Amino acid sequence: MYIGGFLKNTLVDFPGNVASTIFISGCNFHCGFCHNPDMVGICDESIDRKKIFEYLKKASEKNFLDGVCITGGEPTLFPRELNSLISELKDLGLLVKLDTNGSNPNVLKELEVDYIAMDLKTSLERYGELSEVPHISTNIKESIDFLKSSKIIHEFRTTLVPGLVEESELALLGELLNKDSRWFFQNFRNDVVYDPYYLGVIPHSKARVDELVKTAAKYCRAKMR
Ligand code: SF4
Repeated sequence: MYIGGFLKNTLVDFPGNVASTIFISGCNFHCGFCHNPDMVGICDESIDRKKIFEYLKKASEKNFLDGVCITGGEPTLFPRELNSLISELKDLGLLVKLDTNGSNPNVLKELEVDYIAMDLKTSLERYGELSEVPHISTNIKESIDFLKSSKIIHEFRTTLVPGLVEESELALLGELLNKDSRWFFQNFRNDVVYDPYYLGVIPHSKARVDELVKTAAKYCRAKMR
């Protein structure tokens, strides 16, 4: 497992907490709209884990850090290393949040984390456009079902990518969630993307975003982030 990036302080990556963020490189998706394109492939060099832990230990001892967000890429691709990273963070007394695309439900079920944020990219029927992982739609559904019945604090989140997430996709996804599921949205941005095609895709207007979130709100607790 390669650590491709480290952010010392963030107030947005781990809701309600002051956190650091660890970026794990490597992903089994190739979302053209990806806002973290450097993390899709495996980085050539891992950031020095020892230095990261020195900082985290100090920050935790001085009480100016509540937790760590582990994001990607897709961290569940490396279950053994991910589990040991989580244990080390817990040993420092830190809370741990995981960001995931939901492609590895069996890994998700085994993790001892405090918070999981799972992306819902598009309707299950269209996941094949984003990943060649076998049975990807079934896996995504299994991860959704696991989170809905789990005691782990969790949220679902969706980037409103024009053409990929419209009313029909939101309705199909909404049917899979519970009334009290929390579903957060962000508008698509075309400044940093994985596939240059998306540089030319115009983000939704504020009015259109409001319409889409209103559609999602028929099914659960949907909000813009
Ligand atoms: S958006 Fe997430 S799941 Fe998609 S390629 Fe980027 S890191 Fe992977």
